Amino acid sequence: MTDPIDRSGLAPEFWMRKPLSRMTRREWEALCDGCGKCCLNKLEDAETGEVALTRVACRLLDDESCHCAQYDIRHQFVPNCIVLTPGNIAEHAYWMPETCAYRLLWEGKPLFWWHPLVSGDPETVHQAGVSVRGITVSEFDTPEDEWEDHIIEEPV
Ligand code: SF4
Ligand code: SF4
Repeated sequence: MTDPIDRSGLAPEFWMRKPLSRMTRREWEALCDGCGKCCLNKLEDAETGEVALTRVACRLLDDESCHCAQYDIRHQFVPNCIVLTPGNIAEHAYWMPETCAYRLLWEGKPLFWWHPLVSGDPETVHQAGVSVRGITVSEFDTPEDEWEDHIIEEPV
């Protein structure tokens, strides 16, 4: 499968040398590993703040490619989809997947071997078993009061 994210022509290991706040738009977008985990619905306990991940996917997530089917115009369909930026990552990091490249770099950690920027291959995130490929159910078919039945551990 071809990589839906354009990672061509970027400086080698730019993510190790540049802070998030100084990355170009293309570099920032290339940090996404394509795992799809941020596109799963979460259940947040209002009292404890605890976040549980479910396998109920956003209506626009393609379960095979693990990418958003309408990324550029997604807000027409999903107005509350978050646009992650260096400026707001601090407020979102707590619910982001443990292996998300944005969270890892923000926490000062390295990227894993399976990240497409490291491996050079967009399939390695799936081969390593850390993506949502093949494990999701659609939010169209799953009423919200059943989401609790679909809580999963994050694949890491
Ligand atoms: S969790 Fe992070 S790395 Fe994975 S798809 Fe979402 S933004 Fe990209
Ligand atoms: S709109 Fe697209 S990017 Fe946003 S959560 Fe849904 S699938 Fe993911």
